[in-house]
Formats: sequence, structure tokens, C-alpha cells
Amino acid sequence: MADKFISIRNVKFLLFEVFDVLSLSEHVYFSQHNQKMYNLVLDAALKLSTRLLHPIFEEMDRNPPELIAGQVKVHPAVAGIMKEFGQGGWISATFPAESNGEQLPSMVANACFMMFFAANYSASVYPGLTAGAARLIDSFGNEGLKKTYLGKMLSGKWQGTMALTEPQAGSSLTDIATTALPTADGFYKIRGRKTFISAGDHDGAENIVHLMLARIEGAPAGPRGISLFVVPKKRMNEDGNLVSNDITVSQIFHKMGYRGTPIAELSIGDKEDCRGYILGEPHRGLAYMFQMMNEERIGVGLGAASIASAAYYAAVHYCKQRSQGRRLADKDPASPQIAIIEHADIKRMLLFQRAVVEGSFSLLMQCCKYEDMTRVALPQETSRYRLLLELLTPVAKTYASEMGILSTSQSIQCFGGYGYCQDFPVEQHFRDMRIHPIHEGTTGIQAMDLLGRKVVMENGRAFALFLEEVQAAMYAARKFPALSPLVSQLDKAVKLLQDVTFQLVAISHKGPEVYLADATLYLEFFGIVTVAWQWLLQAVSVHKAQAGELSTAEADFYQGKIFTARYYFAYELPKISGLAQRLTDGNPMTVEMKSCFFSD
Ligand SMILES: Cc1cc2nc3c(=O)[nH]c(=O)nc-3n(C[C@H](O)[C@H](O)[C@H](O)COP(=O)(O)OP(=O)(O)OC[C@H]3O[C@@H](n4cnc5c(N)ncnc54)[C@H](O)[C@@H]3O)c2cc1C
Repeated sequence: MADKFISIRNVKFLLFEVFDVLSLSEHVYFSQHNQKMYNLVLDAALKLSTRLLHPIFEEMDRNPPELIAGQVKVHPAVAGIMKEFGQGGWISATFPAESNGEQLPSMVANACFMMFFAANYSASVYPGLTAGAARLIDSFGNEGLKKTYLGKMLSGKWQGTMALTEPQAGSSLTDIATTALPTADGFYKIRGRKTFISAGDHDGAENIVHLMLARIEGAPAGPRGISLFVVPKKRMNEDGNLVSNDITVSQIFHKMGYRGTPIAELSIGDKEDCRGYILGEPHRGLAYMFQMMNEERIGVGLGAASIASAAYYAAVHYCKQRSQGRRLADKDPASPQIAIIEHADIKRMLLFQRAVVEGSFSLLMQCCKYEDMTRVALPQETSRYRLLLELLTPVAKTYASEMGILSTSQSIQCFGGYGYCQDFPVEQHFRDMRIHPIHEGTTGIQAMDLLGRKVVMENGRAFALFLEEVQAAMYAARKFPALSPLVSQLDKAVKLLQDVTFQLVAISHKGPEVYLADATLYLEFFGIVTVAWQWLLQAVSVHKAQAGELSTAEADFYQGKIFTARYYFAYELPKISGLAQRLTDGNPMTVEMKSCFFSD
């Protein structure tokens, strides 16, 4: 099937067999859900993706947004997408029932978004961002803000954004300069400039609601002086009509990919008439915003893995159709050519893509499970899941994003020259993929977060909990003798990770420059080991399933899983030894290198 962009079988394998989503129904909060209902939701998400999103995947790329007379015009389907996502309960999927939500587990809602992203990443960002922005208002807003904004956002009438970045404050949010002046009427006057704001303006929604970071005048410098505001494009006046709130779009950027969604530069309060409404307490904005940032980091990882999934299925389909060459042993030029999927090198590239796609999905579902558990676990256990989620968020975001680039690149490689041309979708997947290691915090920033903060937080408790999780997976795998080679390899890999981590932490006294110089390589190392753990978990579920009666299709699905797990351990996991060598050789080369040496 040429139009396949995701495997619903794999989605259900992860949800029901690996992560046992049904076990959540034992908790009161999720008790109204059952397998039948989850299947209905997942099947509906696939249908929506196939009917509404996938048909315009290419069209949105070829007709990117335009700024005309101060208004951003997007593909005409965006308005309908927002409406259907609102009416269908997809924006409010994880909201609690008392906020008119569906109260779905994060695992199930994000499994649906995996399908939406795979079908058409740009189109799915509009409702996805709105959900994250609305959740901030739901978590920290007062009743007035909830009343004004939540209904309109959850119904898809109003677009939500996250408005953090400024020209001088990209990775360094501490340098945010947008100001907020308190008034006697309770609102703040906002002035400043924001840049790169996804869906920051468009004609597919009646209003745009920016969740914006700004500094209250006189606030202390640094992160503790930043507050969070709801700043609408149009505010409601006293008689309930929407009027302009003094935000103008100074430009939209022309991007290499992800071209169906505009990223806007906004001038705010040029006429001193932009009103912002504070969310929560003053000066705590960055801490509140981390709720949305962490959620969006998982979302970025899911987006990346989903795009890689669509490229992988395009490649599998092509490799089955395309005939070229003969078996190496066949020297007869008159014999028919064979499909390229029969060549070992093509199978290697496809295995690599599948290993990245399904390994990433698994790790991201693991994170979603931790998030669900923070909601329902006993109070004494909540911190366990919170710490694990915090530790693994930069890993899951980055593994899926960085490896997703390599994976979509290999999809193009499978197509040969045709993959480089617009006749096939993989060149677009490659372009759409490239943003993921950049937005929601670059890979460099995620790496410093992991090594500089997460690994050492609470005296290394999160790291210790992670090691416990891996040990538990190895314990479960030991019951299946066929898995023992994978168990012993993972055991050695985890010991090496521990060893490298201890050695690095031991040199932290040399100062952060030296300690964090190769943080990105450490993150890469951590990601490879973490995904090996996920492949072992999947292999355990496969072995459990293989104990029963299976149809041919099911038997093939599980065999494919086992081969991919074996591929991962044979080809990917060994890459850590080179990284370990570099990370422990104690030579701070990049710190010693001087910028002037980069001249001629
Ligand atoms: C398509 C797109 C969509 C976006 N959507 C949004 C959005 O919706 N809302 C929003 O607020 N922002 C958004 N952004 C902004 C995005 O989050 C930033 O581009 C990103 O955080 C990086 O900031 P920057 O571009 O200023 O790069 P810089 O911060 O200048 O970084 C450039 C390079 O320097 C490295 N670097 C920076 N600081 C350090 C350091 N201290 N140590 C080591 N290395 C460092 C970085 O890792 C990177 O490799 C979007 C951007 C794009 C391109």
C-alpha cells in the first residue's frame, strides 16, 4: 500500500502488549476506559489522518503561508482541521472531564498524534500547540482566564501558541526582554518582539492566543524575573466584541521544511495598547512554561519519529516495486532483475529505519506512561515517575530527532536518484524532519540539561531509578533463553554508561566548560543505551506473544520485530564504545581550541 504512513499494528503492540495501557484502568481516574474504547479511538484517529490530513500533505508544502496586508494566509483546509479536531475532542483528549476533556491517558492521546504527525506534520501542529497552550491556562489560570479562553481553544476556534523566542533570546531564555507594565485595571501592558512563533498568526482560526514570556518592569534580571502572560491577538472589550490587541506580524520566515505552518515574527504593543493577563504568580513564568516545553519536547520527538515512519513505509513500498540488478551469485545477464528489497544492503537500510522508528516510538510511549503514572500513582511513588520523565525527556526528544534525520536520509537512499526528486514524498519528509533537533531546545541545550542537571539532580536519584528500570527489563528478559545474548550485551552497555557517567561527574570540579564540553556525545551515548532497553522490552513482549497460536501475518510481524531487535543490538549498540572512549579520554580539546584558529 503506497499510502501507508504508520503501522497501527505497531501502535497497538506498544500500547497493549509492551506498556499495558489497560492497567491504567485500575486507577479511578482512567477507570471509565476499556480496550474496546481505546481501539475505537485509535481507529478513528487513523481514519481522520487518512481522510483529512494525508491528502494535503504535499499540497501544504507546495503552497506555504503568505503574509498579505498584515494577515497570514494559510492553506484553506486549516480552518476545517481546527474545527474537526475541536469537535472530535482531539484537542481536549487528555483534559480532565471537569474541563470538558476526554480524560484519555497521555499514552493513547499521543498514539493518536503519532498517526496525525505521520500523515501530515504541519497540519497537526495547529491543534497540537493549541492543546499545550490551553493546558497551561487550565493548570495555572484563574477562573476568569479559564472561562474566556479554554472553551474557544478546546473547540478549535482559537489557536494557541508558545511565544518564548526573541531575536537575542533563543537558547538563552534568561535574556528575554519583552516587558510587562502593570496597570491599575489588573492587566499588563506588553511591549516587545517575539520571533519564530509557530502558528503565530493565521486566518484558519478566529483568534490567536499567545502564551507569552515577558518581564514585569523592575523584575530581577535572569530566569527568576520572567513571568507568563496570556496575550491574545484580539481581546474582548467590555461589550464582548473582539478588538485588535496591538500585535502585528512583521514577517514570516520561508523555511526548508514544515512549510505548511507559518512561523511569525511579532511586534507587540507598538501603539502601547497590547494587554496581557498574568498566568499564576509574577516571576514564576519560566517554571510554568516548562510544563508546556516538556510536553512539546515529547511532542517534537513524536513528530520526528512519525515523519521517519512515513518515510520508512514509503521506502519499504518502493523497494518491493523497484527491480534492479541480480543476486550477487547470479552471473546470467538474461535472468530477470530482482526487487531491490532482496539486496542485503537495502535490507540493512530498512532495518536501520525500522529500528529508529519503532525504538523511538517505544521510548516516547515509555515517557507518556511515566506521565500517566504521575497522575494516578500513590503520593509516595509520584516522584519516581516524575524524575524518570524528567531524565528521559531530553533523551527521547533528541534520539528521535537526530536519528530521525539519519533515518529519513536512508529512506531517500533506498529510492536512489528518484528519492532526491519531488516525484516521491521522501525528499519532503527529509526537509520536514530537519527542524526537530532545533525547536523546543536544540540538541546542544538538551545535552547540557541531561548531563548538567538531570543526571545529577537529587544526588543522582533519577539516574539510579533509570538503572533500576533497565535492570527490571533484563530480569524479565532472562526468562527467555533466546534473549540471553541481548541481556548480557545490555548489561555490559549499562555498566559502561554508569562508568562513563561516574568518570564525567568526577571531573565536574574542573568547571562546567570542561565537564559539559562533550555533553552532546554523552546524550548520544545515553540515547543508544536507552533505546536498546526499549528494544529488549519489545523483544520480551514478542516472546510472550509467540507462545500462543498466531496467524501468518501475526507471526511475520513478530519475526520482523525480533530481527529488528537483533539488528539494533548487532549494529547500533556497539557504537557506544567509540563514544565511551572519547568521553573518558580527559582531553578537553574543544575547550582549548581558540575561535581565532578558525580563520584561514
Ligand atoms: C521552524 C521553527 C519553529 C519554531 N517555533 C517556535 C515557537 O513556536 N515558539 C518559540 O518561542 N520559538 C520557536 N522557535 C524558536 C526555536 O525554539 C529556537 O530557534 C531555538 O530554541 C534556538 O534558538 P536560536 O534559533 O536563537 O539559536 P541559538 O540560540 O543562537 O543557537 C545557535 C547554536 O548555538 C548553540 N548554543 C546556543 N547557546 C549555547 C550554549 N550556551 N552552549 C552551547 N551551545 C549553545 C545551539 O545549540 C545552536 O546549535 C522555532 C524555530 C523554528 C526554526
